[in-house]
Amino acid sequence: MAKKQGEFFVCLVPGCDVKKKGEKEILGHIVMDHQQVAERHVSGVDGSVGWTFRPRELKDVQQGWQDAHKYGEEKWKRQLDQGIIDIWGVAQTKKGWRKGVPRVMKESQ
Ligand SMILES: [Zn+2]
Repeated sequence: MAKKQGEFFVCLVPGCDVKKKGEKEILGHIVMDHQQVAERHVSGVDGSVGWTFRPRELKDVQQGWQDAHKYGEEKWKRQLDQGIIDIWGVAQTKKGWRKGVPRVMKESQ
């Protein structure tokens, strides 16, 4: 299990304090934001769990993207088809407002 802080899992990368509700989301975040894959390994000696990092590869991206955003395979394929993201899961829309994300309306008072 990744580091836990209260209800949240904390990113495994030193210096990053991103927290997510789910471990899979953290692992996805590491793939998408740190371009790394965290792999769990259990010590044969005392059974303790540790993590190693390796650079991400293209084959890691889809799963990482889905985990990070809690989306399914359908959504990945649809967004890729529509050109909303590229094969590395990078949003191709303009900075700021993104498709599918509701704009925050300012109170007009
Ligand atoms: Zn992080």
